[in-house]
Amino acid sequence: MSFCSDIKTELSEIRVSRCCMQALTYGLLLFSRSFSAKKMSMQSENLSVTRLYASMIKKNYDAQVTITEGSSKNTTYRAEVGDEIDRLKILASVDFGMIEGKISHEFFNRDCCEASFVRGAFLSCGQMSDPEKSYRVDFSVKSQALAEELRDILARHDVKANISTRGKGFVVYIKRSEMIINLLTLMGASMRSLELIETTIIKEANNKTNRMFNCDGANIKKTIEASIKQRTAIEYLIKREMLSSLPNELISAANLRMQYPESSLKDLCKNSTEPITVSGLNHRLKKIIEIYEDIKSR
Ligand SMILES: [Zn+2]
Repeated sequence: MSFCSDIKTELSEIRVSRCCMQALTYGLLLFSRSFSAKKMSMQSENLSVTRLYASMIKKNYDAQVTITEGSSKNTTYRAEVGDEIDRLKILASVDFGMIEGKISHEFFNRDCCEASFVRGAFLSCGQMSDPEKSYRVDFSVKSQALAEELRDILARHDVKANISTRGKGFVVYIKRSEMIINLLTLMGASMRSLELIETTIIKEANNKTNRMFNCDGANIKKTIEASIKQRTAIEYLIKREMLSSLPNELISAANLRMQYPESSLKDLCKNSTEPITVSGLNHRLKKIIEIYEDIKSR
């Protein structure tokens, strides 16, 4: 299975809270292969994605969706709303304006709903490259207006995307690793996000260290692994605006780590504006990880 396929399986298995159901369904429909009175269908290499499409449509509109397996050599699944009355019912329930490319915001009750909408869009039309090879996420979108709307929604959640054309359609794409991490976090793929963060930082740090010195590999690896753990915790706290509520000495330790992501504790101490020992700094960074783990386990 490809990285993209794995992540889609993970995303399609997230439990959907009641308030998000319509937004998720809307995202799945709007960015699917066909969404009109004549034809309403989606195609995916993941059976779980087509099943989600079918079950959401059933729950929201009580409409029947049939899933068939494609005959091409790469297995694909196709989910289709076969009955015209069902299709009309679905179309009538969403704002017709959006067929022209405007996204209706009526289903976005809360931030979580908008995130679910993005998840639906990604499941319907998204692709992600394996982060070990390159960083890239594409949403293939039919109209420019829809591409622009999606880009703006993503921007509201700290995911900066660009638009290019491809054939008759448009692509909303993301190329920076930290933006891809933000997108994965937004869509709820927490496990994957962390794996991606690790791959990214190890890769970048290895490139740098290989260029810079030629010293003990095991030590570098240890330093990097500790740094990843610390940065994951700090980034998490920053994102949730919790860092600023910590004691000052923890805030300054966090800032120091973020400023020098690849430095050893010894080098961090040298770069600190206030005098601090290695064990003192180590203690503070450990404390931050403890707080992070405590919050995560709640
Ligand atoms: Zn919601």
